[in-house]
Amino acid sequence: MSARLLLIGPPGAGKGTQAARLRDMLRVPAISTGDIFRQNVREETPLGVKAKAYMDAGDNVPDSLTNDLVRDRLEQADCASGFLLDGYPRTLDQVAYLDSFLAEHDTAMDVVVELVADPDVVVERLRQRALDQGRSDDDESVVRHRLEIYRQQTAPLIGVYEERGLLVKVDGIGEIDEVTGRIASALAERGVVVAG
Ligand code: AMP
Repeated sequence: MSARLLLIGPPGAGKGTQAARLRDMLRVPAISTGDIFRQNVREETPLGVKAKAYMDAGDNVPDSLTNDLVRDRLEQADCASGFLLDGYPRTLDQVAYLDSFLAEHDTAMDVVVELVADPDVVVERLRQRALDQGRSDDDESVVRHRLEIYRQQTAPLIGVYEERGLLVKVDGIGEIDEVTGRIASALAERGVVVAG
């Protein structure tokens, strides 16, 4: 079956971890704009060169760059029968762009999963990730800025999807398996069947 899903939540809520699991369970591609940007930065592509300063500062990359990248990715054949977006859309402009892209393709999102996590918990998780992975934007002051950007620019999207009746809230705190189980049951309630 097709499933067009979106995972939304603050940095450090576990979106990437859960997206990888849902990708395997739902057999749809998981598309992380953050991963795509990081790959471009590593490869020093023109996009990566433009994105790097924003990412290092914990700011959003401009919508114009991000929207084009997502369009290119969603137009690839493997997204035809569904996809899971992780970290996009992140601004109201990106929501408008995604809406018109999907409308052009006669489709729409099915479910938006909000991973709910307390800011103190995510700061601690990201501190740990900084030690484990050395991501340059996991430095504590950058983390606090990313949380603030999330609060200002991304949190308002939750109300938008709630009004559309697409939002399910899932507690993101707990063991990884436990959280995956919560997401799977929330999706099942919405008619999206997740194979184990
Ligand atoms: P993430 O891996 O989702 O935490 O993203 C890491 C960084 O990539 C963010 O702090 C932004 O600088 C950039 N980024 C990822 N997704 C987006 C997006 N949808 N819009 C703008 N910037 C983004």
